[in-house]
Amino acid sequence: MTNELIEKSKKHLWLPFTQMKDYDENPLIIESGEGIKVKDIHGKEYYDGFSSVWLNVHGHRKKELDEAIKKQLDKIAHSTLLGMTNVPATELAEKLVEISPEKLTRVFYSDSGAEAMEIALKMAFQYWKNIGKPEKQKFISMKNGYHGDTIGAVSVGSIDLFHHVYGALMFDSFKAPIPYVYRSESEDPAKCRDECLHILEQLLMENHHEMAALSIESMVQGAAGMIVMPEGFLSGVRELCTKYDVLMIVDEVATGFGRTGKMFACEYENVQPDLMAAGKGITGGYLPIAVTFTTEEIYEAFYDDYQTLKTFFHGHSYTGNQLGCAVAIENLRLFEAENIVKEVGKKAKELQSLLAEFKQLPHVGDIRQLGFMCGIELVQSKETKEPFPSEKRVGYHVALKMRELGMLTRPMGDVIVFMPPLVSSNEELKEMVAMMKEAIEIITSEVATALV
Ligand SMILES: *Cc1c(COP(=O)(O)O)cnc(C)c1O
Repeated sequence: MTNELIEKSKKHLWLPFTQMKDYDENPLIIESGEGIKVKDIHGKEYYDGFSSVWLNVHGHRKKELDEAIKKQLDKIAHSTLLGMTNVPATELAEKLVEISPEKLTRVFYSDSGAEAMEIALKMAFQYWKNIGKPEKQKFISMKNGYHGDTIGAVSVGSIDLFHHVYGALMFDSFKAPIPYVYRSESEDPAKCRDECLHILEQLLMENHHEMAALSIESMVQGAAGMIVMPEGFLSGVRELCTKYDVLMIVDEVATGFGRTGKMFACEYENVQPDLMAAGKGITGGYLPIAVTFTTEEIYEAFYDDYQTLKTFFHGHSYTGNQLGCAVAIENLRLFEAENIVKEVGKKAKELQSLLAEFKQLPHVGDIRQLGFMCGIELVQSKETKEPFPSEKRVGYHVALKMRELGMLTRPMGDVIVFMPPLVSSNEELKEMVAMMKEAIEIITSEVATALV
């Protein structure tokens, strides 16, 4: 039975972001989950060390979330949001506006983070047309940014490994540097920040007349390798966008819903975005709902008699799905009832001291963390920061070793990602960190020895 399933998976499936040759060598099929663990078809249990790719909040099979879906199912599973709404989508909108930055008063639903970003880009683009400034058509985005995998989101992204191959398909966008303190010459966060803000200001000064919006991840560049922005950077970007009349699109898809120890990471810098994309944790990791928040000012630029054709012509079949919205409402209720955000803040300190022990390991170059978003950059040489040869696939092998030890995660190159579910207890964090440490030690010493 289990072998049959594995054969079927190899025969018919094509998995996202996966070289299927790798999958065929190391297949894995998850059958169930409980708390912060998942179980495969052979009955082996794994800690969900990456929250099923950055989604999970309350663990798996959280009773209240399961119940919320069942309860909604007794009424209706789905009806459209085109020209009408439904009960949970409406209730959820009010709750989302309550918890989001003050200036954001409108929510537009979709099904994934990438779509939420596409929507933000199209809204920004059309906004300027609608208010009579059609010359503002271009975007400015951050080096190493990641906003999802649809073509618009890829166009404002810039991770060479994922994006290079699609170059000819993308629309042009200006790229601004992002402070990557560990790999900067001085390793001085303030200096690094100011240099990047300076270059950004030059770009804006020269080109703002044709710029519609700037897109940026909030506080941490996730897919780039958990690169945490220095204090004052995000708010500095906000000031420059205001100064040069360019809309600011903040991507909170990874960082939103408590992940960094705030409900939204832009709260760290008191930033009020003009548009904000969120997804991932919005349903506690249960169902595909995403949202683009915007301001009343942008909303009003689309509000007019039909004949003016200022309508936002965008939508998806499952926009505002009732089951998803119902579970999102219950998720937000649990955030409050269980004080999730504050608890993450507290436990993150514990986690920080656990991770500090990694500093002694011979191949750990940098440890980056904001809340429950952590990246450990492995290098061949700590002195020169020289990376391991990429063909050694050190991060990949560390993750495979962790799988063997009983924990799942996915690296970004040689940056080991640790993003446990937000309800993970200090005890569980300790166990997961120990597995990670063991895997890093085993693999890096094997590879380093082979390289000598
Ligand atoms: C995951 C992610 C996205 C894309 O979200 P999907 O739901 O996978 O489409 C966009 N932006 C950031 C910062 C992300 O981490």
